[in-house]
Amino acid sequence: MWRRVTSLSSFLTSPSRSFLLNPNQEAYGQRICKSLCTDGGKSGSGGFFSRDHCPYIAFVLGGPGSGKGTQCTKIVENFGFTHLSAGDLLRKEITSDSKDGSMIFQMIKEGNIVPSEVTVKLLQKAISLSENNKFLIDGFPRTEENRISYERIIGAEPNMVLFFHCPEEEMIKRVLNRNEGRIDDNEETVKARLNVFRGLSLPVVNYYAAKGKLHKINGTGSEEEIFERVKPIFAALRYFGI
Ligand code: UDP
Ligand code: MG
Repeated sequence: MWRRVTSLSSFLTSPSRSFLLNPNQEAYGQRICKSLCTDGGKSGSGGFFSRDHCPYIAFVLGGPGSGKGTQCTKIVENFGFTHLSAGDLLRKEITSDSKDGSMIFQMIKEGNIVPSEVTVKLLQKAISLSENNKFLIDGFPRTEENRISYERIIGAEPNMVLFFHCPEEEMIKRVLNRNEGRIDDNEETVKARLNVFRGLSLPVVNYYAAKGKLHKINGTGSEEEIFERVKPIFAALRYFGI
């Protein structure tokens, strides 16, 4: 669909379209355009995606309780993306008859990271079963190894990455108060998950920041306040037919 965007750089810099985008959206638009136009030919050039089916992929990252899932639900409602939570896909595997179920259970219980091949395969299956062509991949990649494995198997980089930044005390409070009956929402496992996030997941965030693909969002405040910060990013995408 974004073969249409090849000349969008000039569209974005044209004074005649300034009424279309506010300054924030213009900045987002420039970054989005860059990610669409300078993917090093990786998207759709072999791997899982073909030239005819190359969906728009946004990774959604942040620590445990940073609001990834909540904001993804709002993005789905307002912008028509399909939400794929890596954690939810893994939890579903535990309750199915999958051979990996008990291994996944153990990993999640201890706050460790499930082997990349398992998670990437679940994501791959969910994408191929969907009719949609734009996806939010929530809570993945969590390690550099996850990232490299995804890019190798899928053969494409994400188009953009959202990162919800939130103080640790706030994340701990949210996780311990959310009462969703999760085996990993207890004080001990949350501490382990935060250690994993600091040590293994932040390098992934930094990698995408250096590539100019990261949208860092202040994840404090009410759900609505946070969504007001997310909205302009996706509103800008609409100008690219996404
Ligand atoms: N997990 C994993 N790989 C992933 C996503 C999740 O191994 O790509 C495991 C990991 O043990 C993590 C747990 O699933 O701590 C819960 O992840 P989820 O994203 O659901 O938790 P959140 O960060 O949203 O609280
Ligand atoms: Mg979640």
